[in-house]
Amino acid sequence: MTTVDDLAEARALLGDLVAGAGRAVVFTGAGVSTESGIPDFRSPGGIWSQRQPIYFDDFLADEDARLEDWHRRFEMRKLFDAATPNTAHRAIAGLVQSGIVGAVITQNIDGLHQRSGVPEDKLIELHGNATSAGCLDCGAGMSLDDAFAELEASGHAPRCFTCGGLVKARVVSFGQPMPVHEMGRAEAAARDCDLFIAAGSSLVVYPAAGFPLAARMNGATLVIVNRDATEQDQAADYVLRGTIGAIFEPLAVSAP
Ligand code: NAD
Ligand code: ZN
Repeated sequence: MTTVDDLAEARALLGDLVAGAGRAVVFTGAGVSTESGIPDFRSPGGIWSQRQPIYFDDFLADEDARLEDWHRRFEMRKLFDAATPNTAHRAIAGLVQSGIVGAVITQNIDGLHQRSGVPEDKLIELHGNATSAGCLDCGAGMSLDDAFAELEASGHAPRCFTCGGLVKARVVSFGQPMPVHEMGRAEAAARDCDLFIAAGSSLVVYPAAGFPLAARMNGATLVIVNRDATEQDQAADYVLRGTIGAIFEPLAVSAP
């Protein structure tokens, strides 16, 4: 494992690795979006670091938990709507457009990779996306505007217009099963790449955090780009320590 703390060296190394890659995958966590103004979980002071997660079973069983979940969703939506893609999002989108990066696997639910131009067929959202909601029984969609209107009008957590089932933001809560299709796509991407770049994740949330290791075991070069130490630094080929936007900036500048 080689750790690089110097910004110029980190930029040069990342540029060389990307230029030499046949098929690269980028894996992102909350740290990629902090420079867009969205706090992460595990940095000190992040608003969400002070909150207990709402588990899926509690959402199913308890109306108060559902209402709290919805209030957090609406609050988060304001944050997400106000945010715009940052340098790292743009650099990653550029690498996808130029064909170097074949897949972006993200734990983020903020929709900023789409908004930066990563097409759906190259984007794997492991934890869903907080910009829409759906019925847990029949799958029918509901917009957040409709969910908000329902909650305001009734005082209750929104119910499906079609079947009356519980509606939930289309994100994977703690204790909720991972989406099978996305997990399969991420596994295939991790298996088939020769360069795997994990950026802005503490790499502690499983099963998502299993993909960097899976790629490494399949022979890919593993690069971790993060400000703080991660759980998997020891397993990486290179750890680029610093601010993500600054390290990715030259790639954003050269993006098509
Ligand atoms: P995390 O909060 O556990 O780790 C984020 C990491 O990013 C930290 O190690 C921190 O050092 C690093 N970091 C933050 N800003 C950085 C910057 N500008 N430059 C370099 N490094 C920086 O995040 P995680 O591993 O993604 O796990 C959090 C879970 O919570 C995920 O499952 C995710 O779905 C969810 N989450 C999502 C969002 C979002 O969608 N933007 C935000 C918070 C949490
Ligand atoms: Zn329904």
